[in-house]
Amino acid sequence: MARTSSTDAEHAGIRTVASLIAAAARTAPKTRGVDAIQSLVVDGEDMETLARAMEAAAPGRPDLIANGLRRDARNVRDSVCAVLIGVTGAAKKPENPFDCGACGLKTCSNLMNARAKGGADTDFFGPICVFASMDLGIALGSAARVAAEHNIDNRMMYTMGVGATKLKWLDTDIIIGIPLSATGKSIYFDRG
Ligand code: SF4
Repeated sequence: MARTSSTDAEHAGIRTVASLIAAAARTAPKTRGVDAIQSLVVDGEDMETLARAMEAAAPGRPDLIANGLRRDARNVRDSVCAVLIGVTGAAKKPENPFDCGACGLKTCSNLMNARAKGGADTDFFGPICVFASMDLGIALGSAARVAAEHNIDNRMMYTMGVGATKLKWLDTDIIIGIPLSATGKSIYFDRG
């Protein structure tokens, strides 16, 4: 008789869902039909690497973000694996621009010029086109839906994106992380 412990079965299920999340991020609707989303599944020793990068980003930051980086790093260590989802923020189809102004610049060309000047020393790179922001939100919503449909605990974490950006794991402007876990009570809420 072949037997699989519940822990092994649960972890296998979580890893399967991580792959399904990556697929959901890929098939999520993209504005203007241009896909600027990237994702990465993080597992094994790289979870510790990511947790350390998050903690390393804490010193010198305001208490709110510093405490969040350290607290979320503990969550990363306690998770089975995670999915990172990022987006690049260039204007889409610049040869046929919308020039909507929502990014704070009057034209798409102005946004591209501002981006060419390089970013500040901040968590993420900007400015980005608002349509890229929409795509990231849609992809994250699709990802969380897949996790929820399979009853896998999860949470969207800005702080994981900070660590992953420091590690240069995705060539994107913004990254949000989604750690995954399955325990009797979600480890991502009521954390004190
Ligand atoms: S948000 Fe900015 S870059 Fe994006 S379509 Fe509008 S003007 Fe162009």
